[in-house]
Parts: sequence; C-alpha cells; structure tokens
Amino acid sequence: MSDSDSPEEENDERALFEARLKALEVDLRQKKEIILAQHTKLEAFFESSIDAVVQMDFDGHITGWNQQAEKIFGWSAEEILDRTIAETIIPERYRDAHNKGMKKYLRTGKSSVLNTLIEIHALHRDGYEFPVELSISVIDSKDLQEFNAYIRDISERKHAETVIWNQANFDSLTSLPNRNLFLQKLEHEMHACDRSNLSLALLYIDLDRFKDVNDTLGHDMGDLLLIEISSRLKKTLREIDTVSRLSGDEFTIILGQINDPLSVQPLCQQLLDDLAQPYQLDNEKVFLTASIGVTFYPQDSKDIEVLQRNGDQAMYAAKGNGRNGFHFFTPELQERALRKRTMIKDLREAMQQQQFEIYYQPIIDMKNNQLTKAEALLRWHHPESGMVSPSVFIPIAEETGLISDIGNWVFYSATEQASRWRDQFDIDFQVSINTSPLQWIDEAAAMNQWFSHLQQIGLSGQAMTVEITEGLLMDANDKITNRLLDFRDAEIQVSIDDFGTGYSSLSYLKQFDIDYLKIDQSFVRNLDNDKNDLALCEAIIVMAHKLGIKVIAEGVETETQNQLLKDFGCDFGQGYLFSRPVAASDFEALLGKPCKKQKPRAKKSTA
Ligand code: C2E
Ligand code: MG
Repeated sequence: MSDSDSPEEENDERALFEARLKALEVDLRQKKEIILAQHTKLEAFFESSIDAVVQMDFDGHITGWNQQAEKIFGWSAEEILDRTIAETIIPERYRDAHNKGMKKYLRTGKSSVLNTLIEIHALHRDGYEFPVELSISVIDSKDLQEFNAYIRDISERKHAETVIWNQANFDSLTSLPNRNLFLQKLEHEMHACDRSNLSLALLYIDLDRFKDVNDTLGHDMGDLLLIEISSRLKKTLREIDTVSRLSGDEFTIILGQINDPLSVQPLCQQLLDDLAQPYQLDNEKVFLTASIGVTFYPQDSKDIEVLQRNGDQAMYAAKGNGRNGFHFFTPELQERALRKRTMIKDLREAMQQQQFEIYYQPIIDMKNNQLTKAEALLRWHHPESGMVSPSVFIPIAEETGLISDIGNWVFYSATEQASRWRDQFDIDFQVSINTSPLQWIDEAAAMNQWFSHLQQIGLSGQAMTVEITEGLLMDANDKITNRLLDFRDAEIQVSIDDFGTGYSSLSYLKQFDIDYLKIDQSFVRNLDNDKNDLALCEAIIVMAHKLGIKVIAEGVETETQNQLLKDFGCDFGQGYLFSRPVAASDFEALLGKPCKKQKPRAKKSTA
C-alpha cells in the first residue's frame, strides 16, 4: 500500500489480500488432508505388509514394529519400543558382526547389506532361531535418520526345499546318499585331492547272491537286510568317508585323504568281515557276503566316468576270484596287495614255525673301545623268500597287532640270552631291545609282566635298555608315563631311537628321565662331508650331556666318523665299523675281548 492510495483502492487491496489468504488456507488444509491421507495409507500399508517391517534409529533402537513383526518374532509393539534390535531379534552369534556393520555405516556411509536380499537366521522371543529373508534400506536425511528392515519368515520354504533336496539326494530306504549325491561328493573329493596332493579310494561293493535272499525270503526281508547292511557299512567308516547306495544291492564308499593305497587293505577286510556276520531278520538268520572293487584317484584315472567303470570292473574281478573278497583295479597294486596278504598270513605262522632269530650288534664304549652293550635286532627267516628285513615286516606286524606277541618273544629271548652272557663273560653286559609304540599301549603286550620275568631269571634291570621313539613321548598319556616310570623303578634304562629325525624336543627328554639318545644314522653317515650334520651331531651330544643323557651314535661306518664323534665326546658307537649285527653264536666270539675296530665283514652271518 502507498500513501497516495484512495480509500476505495485500499479496500480493494485488503479484499484481495484476504481472498488470497483464504485461498492459501484452503490450499494448506487440502495439503494437510492429502498428507494425512497418505500417512494413513502408509500406516495401513505398513501394518498390512506381509513382511515384518522393523524400523530402527542410528543407535540401533527400534522405532517401528508392524503387526507382522509382532507375529513372527513374538514381541508386541509396546514391549519392543526402545529395545535394541541386536538384543531382540539377532541371534547372539551375529551380534558382533551387526554392531561392526552399523559402526562402519556411520563412519563411511557404506554397507554391504543395504538394499540386497539376504538369508539369515533370526531370533524369536521364545529363544529359537528361524530362517528369514531380509532386505534393509536407509533414510539418511536432515530430518530423519532411520533403517527400515523388511523381514520374511521363510521357515516353510526352507523346510520344503530340504524335503525336496533330500528326495533328490538320498535313498529313501536306507537314508544313504543316492547316486546323485554320490557323484557330487566324488567330484568334491577329487578336487580336495588335487589341493592336498593325497588320493582317494573308491570302493564298489556288491552283495553276493542278494537276489537269492529277495527270492526266497521276499522283498520286505530284502529291505530289512539292506538297512542293516548300510548301518554296518557306516559303523566301520570315518566321519569323512561317504557311503552311498547306488541301486539295489550296489553300494559305494569314497575314502578321502589316502596317503598309501595299500593302507585301505585292512579297512576292506574289516568291511568284508563285518558284512559276513550273520543277520537276524525277524526269525530268520541270514548269511551273506560281499565283493569289493577298489580304484584310486588320481592314480587309476582322473576322469570321473572312467573311475566309476574301474571300480565296477574291479568289483567284478573280486566276484570272479570267488566272492567275499576285494580286488584292486591296477594289476600292479593288486599284486602288491596279494603279496602283502600272503606276508600277513606267513607272519602269523612265523612264531610257531620258529622262523625268528635275534641278531646282536655290538655297541662300543668310545672311551676304551670295550664292547659293553648290544642291540637286539630281529631277523625273519622266511621259508621261501629267505631273510626278510625288519623294516619290511615290523610295520606289517604293527598293522596286524602281531607286534605285541613278537615284541614279547624278543624280550624273553634277548633277556635270557643276556643273562647267560653276563654269567659267562661280562658282569656289566647290557642288551638293548627295540619296542614299537603299539606295545606300550596294547594291554595284550603285557609289558608289566616283563619285570617279574627279570626277577625269575635273576637278571637285574640294569642289564637291559628299551629303545623307544620320540613319537611315543610326544603322545604319552598317563598309562605310557606310568609304564615308563615302572621301567625306571625296575632300573631298566630307556633310549630314544633315531634321534634327530622326529621332533627332537628337549622338554620331553627332561620330563621322562631318558638315559640315552641314539643319533640317527642319517646324520652320522654325512659327518665327513656335511657341515650341517657335523654341527647337528655336536649339538646333540653337548645338549644331551647338559641334561645328563648319554649318547650312542648309530651307523658308524668309517674311521673319520668314529674320530669326529670321539672328539665331540660321544659316549658310545654302533655300526659296521665295529661289527654288523651277527647271530648269537658269532656274537659270543666278540664278547669278552676288547673290540678291535673292524673293516665291515662279509661273512655268512652278516645282516
Ligand atoms: P634301528 O633300531 O634304528 O636299528 C638300526 C638299524 O641300522 C639296523 O637295521 C642295523 O642293522 C642297521 N645298521 C647298524 N649299523 C649300521 C651301519 O653302520 N650302516 C648301516 N647302513 N646300517 C647299520 P635292521 O636290523 O634292518 O633293523 C631295522 C629296524 O627294524 C630297526 O631300526 C628297528 O627300528 C626295527 N627293528 C629291528 N628289530 C626290532 C624288534 O625286535 N622290534 C621292533 N619293534 N623293531 C625292530
Ligand atoms: Mg634301534
């Protein structure tokens, strides 16, 4: 308005102004109504959503909670407001990650879970977890800062998926993996072998004359039998192995992480023995055997199809060999397996047939060249193959459990021999016997009866040493520790054999009161030309002496080695330089006189 305006003009302007104001008010009311309507619509939308909608502020406190959220999580909207989302619906194991994710978003404005669909587990008020599908969006403006989570309970869908997956991958009768899952697992294990450089064994198992059972006793009995067979197969296997039923009476086993193909032999035999036990089906007792074909990845083939064919072929070869047996796909492996099986059979008879003999190898006191001790080394005179090395048959004796009987025989024979020699020649003579770790854990080895035997034959415990491996000390449980203490109480000495090749742990030596370390011959062999081995031998000797342990050097073959060891202060030496292991009668000739160093002798009784 200006000073020059007339009263009429003034009235007009006021009327215009009031009209505009009215119009604005109407406009504002209309907008308000629209916003209110929108809000109501949103509210209705929010409440009627089939997804749970959960809103929270940037501190993690819940600010919105719709009806569906009430339904799936069990909390009402009144109860939930002001609780944090983490303590309410997030299982404990995810809370850390959730908090870190929030912090990261607030710091950087970035988050990997925003606006994507994720599957995760949520927590119900009653404490159980259930699967949900979740997507989160964020409102980050000047007026409002909020996360919105849309959450859908997918328990039913997941359950349905599991049912469908099980139907597609498992055999409904036995609940074992079917061919489909078997192939997936086989492929998976093949990749694992490529990564680890190990092998896998694929076993094809077919029941012998299963059809007869079905024909004579009916299919229901046949089904019962298959169920029992699957549980026997599973019982014998490790967690990591997979047994599947491909069809009818055809099963497969995948054995992963195989180092040595022949190591599966005992398991195959075990499976055959288990399957051959009688089956009690209702009132019927059924006898049944199986044939197993074995093939290896990657040795026999790297192709999954070929591998399956190999297993099948090997299984037919086992059937051809008279059933109730296993057969390797590779002829060379099959031959080795047969040789090993024959050796196991022969080894079982060797004791009764008196085919074992103990050879004795002198251990020389390096200070005065006196023969004061001997190591008892077992020899097997095989009727056809001649002398078999203990490094060949001892591992087999260990694998078959025969080692306990053999170890006992060595102990009784060697101590009786030592007793005779102590009477005859040298009051201080000591015999050292090798023991396998298995003897220390197997009750059947009856090592505690050794002490009474020594008493019976009037031999002092000081007349013997037991050689053990470092591994035994590393794995020592209470039983082994107590047994070692019993040996110490009986004044029997303890040597660590092959020292330097294993863990070479000083703490164990101190803890177990060890008497001797035997430096492994692989270090002694290179003494003259390998500076590392030279340093190592010297270090072992110095260290052992510090701990009050005496040292025996094994495999001394040359005068130079002998001299170097003497210079380092080594206590005892054993090796071809002094004598090879010899039969008891030849050893007698060495006893009672100072041991002159000898050139390695080539004579009848050398070994
Ligand atoms: P070990 O206990 O390390 O025995 C020493 C091995 O080195 C013996 O082999 C011995 O003949 C050989 N040897 C000794 N001096 C020399 C040398 O100067 N040069 C070379 N190249 N070799 C030498 P052997 O008799 O073939 O025995 C092999 C392994 O069999 C033994 O190794 C021991 O671990 C095991 N063994 C032997 N007898 C028994 C036994 O009664 N029970 C158990 N559990 N194991 C035994
Ligand atoms: Mg030894």
